[in-house]
Amino acid sequence: MSSAEPLVIKFGGTSVGDGEGFARAARITAGAAAEGRPVAAVVSAMSGVTDALLAAAAGTATAGTRTARGLARDLRRALGERHLAAARCAVSGDLLPEVEARVLSLLDRLEEELARRALPEAERRAEIAVCGERLSAEILAGALRAAGAPAAVAADPIATGPGGEEVLSEETRARCTRHVRPLLEEGLVAVVPGYAGRSPDGAVTTLGRGGSDLSATALGRGIGAGEVWIMTDVDGVLDADPRLVPGAATLPRLSYREAGAFAALGAEVLHPRTMEPAAAAGIEVLVRNTFDPHSPGTRISARECGPGLRALALRRGLSVEPLEALDGRSGDVFCLLGADVYGIRALVERPSGSAAAVIGVGSPGDEELAAGLRRLHRAGIRPLWAGNTAAGLAFVVAGSRAEEALRELHAALLRREALAGEAVA
Ligand code: ADP
Ligand code: ASP
Ligand code: MG
Repeated sequence: MSSAEPLVIKFGGTSVGDGEGFARAARITAGAAAEGRPVAAVVSAMSGVTDALLAAAAGTATAGTRTARGLARDLRRALGERHLAAARCAVSGDLLPEVEARVLSLLDRLEEELARRALPEAERRAEIAVCGERLSAEILAGALRAAGAPAAVAADPIATGPGGEEVLSEETRARCTRHVRPLLEEGLVAVVPGYAGRSPDGAVTTLGRGGSDLSATALGRGIGAGEVWIMTDVDGVLDADPRLVPGAATLPRLSYREAGAFAALGAEVLHPRTMEPAAAAGIEVLVRNTFDPHSPGTRISARECGPGLRALALRRGLSVEPLEALDGRSGDVFCLLGADVYGIRALVERPSGSAAAVIGVGSPGDEELAAGLRRLHRAGIRPLWAGNTAAGLAFVVAGSRAEEALRELHAALLRREALAGEAVA
């Protein structure tokens, strides 16, 4: 293995949505490996595949034997068509039969698992759920070989607690030493199925929905990587959800603290716990666009970015309730709103909650609070509460005005030209 620090590159489901996606991912990975660093690639299931697998796992769990067999056969056929088409597109002729054989053998196992229902339910669900990542890993490894970069699929290196909720760092390091390092030392790209973990007794677990981001940083920590690249379908971490705020802009830098807070508030581009292994090991994380690999992306490191607001997140399904009325049921409290004439109130997560909160990430000050309130007032949106909370600077509004409030606050607090325009007006 070269003495350079390894690099981990993670491709999300949006990056490997079809055969061309695998070919593109292979080109990016082979290009990085050609620069002399040992490279491990973490790959997600093709977009939509995990949803289909989880639906089939649930649908077959309680169905009669004939129905379960039918569902298993249908899913196998659909996944077979999609993955074999992707393999044919991304893997050249002489390398293709081996990849096809591996894909078919994974599909055989999946069909059997779906129909047989032999494992305990949680383990069965996890085995089925991670099948999408296993299929992707075989195709990416084939596409890498076709792109001139020798590659092999590594056995699951991420060690977790029994339910998958916790990554065990020492055990992960040991699994990486056993399953990933030897591949890197041979000069191979180690291809790791994301989302999958192993419990202490060796059972398959999952890291939770969107968990491949966490797989990448946990793997990075386990192999002593210097950098982790999260390749996705947008230019990096944007300062608000681009599906809700058309003017959202890419953030060039973020600290672990800011990125971790933003992810925990629901910024979908990063799994909520992605930053934990990265911050613990001081690994720089770059969030980059697979479809435009020359765009600079967002660099996340220990360096704090100074005062000011960085980004806005939106949380729905909240309700404002007096703390004493919660009567010890503090599990659902999202954050405390501090004391006012109503006493101490809390923002509580409720499926039926009719309030929403726009929350500022970074180090905002009183100016931002005042500017935000002015803007909401001008837009005719009455805040139910506004101020600093443990979650960040929060503007609580009626759920029916939530997206509008997010856009108004983004224009007022994050778009510099809007700020400049406001100063002139
Ligand atoms: P991947 O398949 O790469 O894991 P995800 O769908 O999980 O991709 O995450 C990327 C998506 O997250 C983007 O397409 C974007 O719509 C959404 N998203 C939500 N909030 C943000 C944000 N603040 N910055 C970037 N993307 C965001
Ligand atoms: N494929 C998994 C999911 O859809 C993990 C991931 O994409 O990160 O949740
Ligand atoms: Mg994701």
